[in-house]
Amino acid sequence: MSIATPELRIDDRVKEFVAPPRKLLINGQWVESASGKTFPTFNPATGEILAHVAEGEKEDIDKAVHAARTAFDQGPWRQMTTSERGKLIWKLADLIEAHLEEFAQLETLDNGKPLTVARVADVPLAIDLFRYMAGWTTKLEGNTIPISVPFTPDAQYHAYTLREPVGVVGQIIPWNFPLLMAAWKLGPALAAGCTIVLKPAEQTPLSAIRLGELICEAGFPDGVVNIITGYGESAGGTLAAHPQVNKVAFTGSTEVGKLILNAASHDLKKVSLELGGKSPNIVCKDADLDIGIPGVASGIFFNHGQCCCAGSRLFVEKGIFDEVVDGVAQHAQHITIGPGLDPNTDMGPLVSDEQQQRVLGYLESGFSEGAEAVVGGKKVGEQGYFVEPTVLVNTKPDMKIIREEIFGPVVCAIPFQDVEEVIPAANDSIYGLASAVWTKDIGKAHRIAAAMRAGTVWINCYNIFDAALPFGGYKQSGWGREMGHAALDLYTEVKSVCAKLS
Ligand code: ADP
Repeated sequence: MSIATPELRIDDRVKEFVAPPRKLLINGQWVESASGKTFPTFNPATGEILAHVAEGEKEDIDKAVHAARTAFDQGPWRQMTTSERGKLIWKLADLIEAHLEEFAQLETLDNGKPLTVARVADVPLAIDLFRYMAGWTTKLEGNTIPISVPFTPDAQYHAYTLREPVGVVGQIIPWNFPLLMAAWKLGPALAAGCTIVLKPAEQTPLSAIRLGELICEAGFPDGVVNIITGYGESAGGTLAAHPQVNKVAFTGSTEVGKLILNAASHDLKKVSLELGGKSPNIVCKDADLDIGIPGVASGIFFNHGQCCCAGSRLFVEKGIFDEVVDGVAQHAQHITIGPGLDPNTDMGPLVSDEQQQRVLGYLESGFSEGAEAVVGGKKVGEQGYFVEPTVLVNTKPDMKIIREEIFGPVVCAIPFQDVEEVIPAANDSIYGLASAVWTKDIGKAHRIAAAMRAGTVWINCYNIFDAALPFGGYKQSGWGREMGHAALDLYTEVKSVCAKLS
């Protein structure tokens, strides 16, 4: 497999954006880091430096949290009507839409994903999310509650609940869908009326910075959204532990999720976590393989397997195992690998050198334990961080490649005898983020859906996301649900008010 010849064209606006060192957004101002330090972000298709951004550390986090605290406690944000708040969020969505191509190019340059994908998935989904959440601002209602108090039987009370913003929120996001993850975090927090300090991933800070510019342009009051670029421990860790932060929302690895939890535990902050996965994708003998095979392939190879919900354990019913594995392998062979800006590219590079090494390390571990590659199994080229889409067979349940999240374009195919066998096998994981079943038998589909210990079950489809559909994990895949009205629960407190009627 070779890397496609690039045919690259970058908009002038994007070139201008990446040219100067990018700053931190604190209290509505773009400022250098307190230390003056910057760090580079790389183009994963070439390994070359793409841009420099400010390296935020403790002092910057302190300033940003202070700005968010002041904006929450004293600023105009809390006094705004819910309708005004909704209009601002909607306006932000309109502005992103007006700059869709620019965002798509930034995402491709910084993350490596195909531009064709960023244009139709990442950016439109982010726009939709903000619009969906804009609608919620006016619908965060409490209840009136009839109460009977046994020890004051003659008294009457009027009791009701209010839903209030949780306060200052620290949000730490990963690099796999940089803009979309920022939207998943910011959208519900803004709808609830919180103020925010957002820390993008150090590998992919650019689209969040551009989003910050549009947040200022939309007219959000100063300090409502603050954006601190920086490294995990020095910026993210400080934010997660900061005493003035009321809630931390994190998306990333389960390993770092546990560190976040520790950092947030000192003052018992609210915490929501969207973590790793090792999602089972179950293909039954009675499935429509014309849609099933491409569906399974895209379930693992979409975004180069760098999805927390990637369908990385492929369970195939005996009798169709070879047909499905060959089909997915053929699909893999037809994937054009290349720089994301090339319109012919189906699969770009992995995000970083570190990620490439990590995926190759898992492949080596699998091979050393007896797994075999039907297709793929190697890196591609010497420049950039490309890895072949890979289908592995001859795996065993206790192998690292079966138990751990690879976060790359690698699927392990496993044969199964019947539904009774596959359900416990599919659930045999510390994770529980997503799962899928392919069958024409509607009863079987729903029986398997009910048995899956996972936050999402797709039936005859994969990677279907909608702003209205909650997403999150069972087990070590996380705490809480993002998107849908469930996401508002993460950013609101319920207050009970009880008045005695005299
Ligand atoms: P990955 O392993 O896929 O790179 P991580 O979970 O390491 O993902 O990173 C996701 C986000 O968490 C990034 O923004 C990263 O900077 C941040 N992060 C990494 N380590 C820590 C930490 N110790 N405390 C807080 N945030 C962290």
